[in-house]
Amino acid sequence: MYLRELTGGLKDLQGCGPKRLEQLGRLGITNIAELLGHYPRDYEDRSRTVPLNQWKRNGKNICTVVRVLSHEWFGFGRMKTLKVIVEDETMRASLACFGRPFLENTLRVGEEYRLWGSFFYKYGELQSSSFEFEPLHSLSGRSVFGKILPVYRLTEGLDQNILRKFIAQALEDYAGKLDEEVPERFRKAHGFMGKGEALSTVHFPASQGDLDKAVRSIKYEELFALEVVVAQRAIRRKGLTANHADHANGLIGLNEIDTENGLSTENKNVRVVRGLQQKLIERLPFKLTNSQMDAIAEINTDLSAPFPMARLLQGDVGSGKTLVAFLASLFIVDAGGQSAIMAPTELLARQHAETAAKLLEPLGLSIAFLSGNVKAAGRKELLKALAAGDIDIVVGTHALFSKDVVYKNLRLVVIDEQHRFGVAQRQAVMEKGNNPHLLMMSATPIPRSLAWTLYGDLEVTEIHEMPLGRKPIETHLAKMSRQQNVYDFVERNVLSKGHQAYFVYPLIEQQTDDEGGSKSSELKDVETMAKTLSEEIFPKYSLALIHSRLDEEQKRLTMEAFRKGEVQILVATSVVEVGVDVPNATCMVIEHAERFGLTALHQLRGRVGRGSEQSYCFLIYADQNEEDGMFAWKRPEDLSEDEQSKMGQRLRVMLNETNGFVIAEKDLKFRGPGLITGTEQSGFKRIGLADPYRDSDILKLARADAFSIEAQSTEAKELFLY
Ligand code: ADP
Ligand code: MG
Repeated sequence: MYLRELTGGLKDLQGCGPKRLEQLGRLGITNIAELLGHYPRDYEDRSRTVPLNQWKRNGKNICTVVRVLSHEWFGFGRMKTLKVIVEDETMRASLACFGRPFLENTLRVGEEYRLWGSFFYKYGELQSSSFEFEPLHSLSGRSVFGKILPVYRLTEGLDQNILRKFIAQALEDYAGKLDEEVPERFRKAHGFMGKGEALSTVHFPASQGDLDKAVRSIKYEELFALEVVVAQRAIRRKGLTANHADHANGLIGLNEIDTENGLSTENKNVRVVRGLQQKLIERLPFKLTNSQMDAIAEINTDLSAPFPMARLLQGDVGSGKTLVAFLASLFIVDAGGQSAIMAPTELLARQHAETAAKLLEPLGLSIAFLSGNVKAAGRKELLKALAAGDIDIVVGTHALFSKDVVYKNLRLVVIDEQHRFGVAQRQAVMEKGNNPHLLMMSATPIPRSLAWTLYGDLEVTEIHEMPLGRKPIETHLAKMSRQQNVYDFVERNVLSKGHQAYFVYPLIEQQTDDEGGSKSSELKDVETMAKTLSEEIFPKYSLALIHSRLDEEQKRLTMEAFRKGEVQILVATSVVEVGVDVPNATCMVIEHAERFGLTALHQLRGRVGRGSEQSYCFLIYADQNEEDGMFAWKRPEDLSEDEQSKMGQRLRVMLNETNGFVIAEKDLKFRGPGLITGTEQSGFKRIGLADPYRDSDILKLARADAFSIEAQSTEAKELFLY
């Protein structure tokens, strides 16, 4: 059987009753396949034993072997606490057993134990109060020592040991029976592990080397599945294109005539647009950039062909892609078709709908907005109008492609900020119309070579120019200890002048820790900071809070108030990262900038500098732990010198570099291989373990393999089925 076919089975796990099922459900685990796909977010290396005198100062656990010397007690009455004195050949230490007096009987004087714990110096002695142990010579199969243990993302009530037990059991029951997803010849050629072995190893690796191999095997499998779909589309399109080769040639001819006539770029551009497009351009208060015009020219050519366009439009943040999408839609409407524009969030979809209404309704078009939150009567009316062809352009979220949505004549699908959508979703979208044209837009520019590998079935258009009249954004780095200077600056140069500011933080609220309890993080969160900023720092100004867990209506009202200027300070998580467009906002303050990838920072910075006023971006970083966001997968002591020096350089890139394409390249260079955590950073949605961006070497292999499959072979038929 295939892993994805394991759609039940949780109930059969030992100790998995209704309560556990509910808890697992909260982690998104409803079946065995999902349980086994709940990959560790980290590992505890208990395979190496170190002497006590090598305890680490940074609160990290070590694994050691000690002998119990004596028992002591301190405190009185109910506060009486056991202290176990231990030693190894290097030194002594004491274990404070708060609330665990019964350890008197398990940690016996004279016996040896393996110990896993974190140590610190207190009252002149080495101490630990948080530790696990096991008799040195016990032979228990359930031992949690001498190996590398997985650490999972948890939810309240569920601890590491329970999850480890469930996963170990599921592996025991199923790992040996799993079918391979990847054709054997590819797997063998690259020396990757089989499915069952890779899964077992990624959860319970015997060594770092095995783990690396398992992770690569799984990533390859995921990327292979992706590239198979890409290859399939490419082959289909090629077939279509071949049939219409004559027509395509004709179109290329048309473009050549323009150049031959020796028209200036500007005139040529005017010739390129037509009908409604021309009308819109005439109404705009600004001139399109040459890049925008070139993009439209390419798109118009594609849209005139009788086979579907598949184009990726890449342009730096603020380069005006939305307008290009509208112009493409107008071409389709002129020809009697409908266009659907999909955005990744409701917030962004709504903003696009409003812009579309403002720009396009005056041309006589009918525009609609659709999301999961458009309910009941309104929705029914809307669906009727769409099916009847009374709506020309509909803007929305993925709800645009739900089952009950029917289009009269859907001819163009635009997907904004496409990296948030997987290939599979793309496929679903394309099934709506009768082979509609596809325009994907990406605001996280990626190097062309990588774009080609990732979206091998798409042609790429790049916008390299920014609209005229934009002032460069002034960017500053500031240590957290100097944050007050930043706040003062913002008040003086932004708020008091009637301009608006964003404040961005990495967390929504203080997080839950590993044991399911609540813990105060060293990171700032939006909820706490919204309070601090409004009560203590900027009491004179109006402030609002926005993050992904608020309901859509609340988000909408908040954004509306911000756009209208009723709210002057917007405190946010990275939900403002993508697409938000408020020209009067001239300042972006990002706290814990060390936690964000460069591309994310670039995106965030792109929210300002949209008007004619001078804009500012402040990157405030915590003084010490700049490395955490980037190299969380590696222990700091394992970083090479090269990597360490990169950390210092990383944020500095933002000072000198404004070009998103260049920043994307640098971001890629700064990332070490083998990272598992911190995946939101690249801006790409991860598929399981693989990050197409970071794992581009594996992606290349997968792509070459997928494209090497003969379209007509039986292998193709099996693989292309799903
Ligand atoms: P992005 O490419 O990041 O999606 P947008 O489409 O949101 O950028 O455009 C950013 C802003 O620039 C919008 O306010 C838009 O109206 C404006 N804009 C677009 N094209 C031009 C242009 N040619 N000249 C001036 N402003 C423009
Ligand atoms: Mg955009």
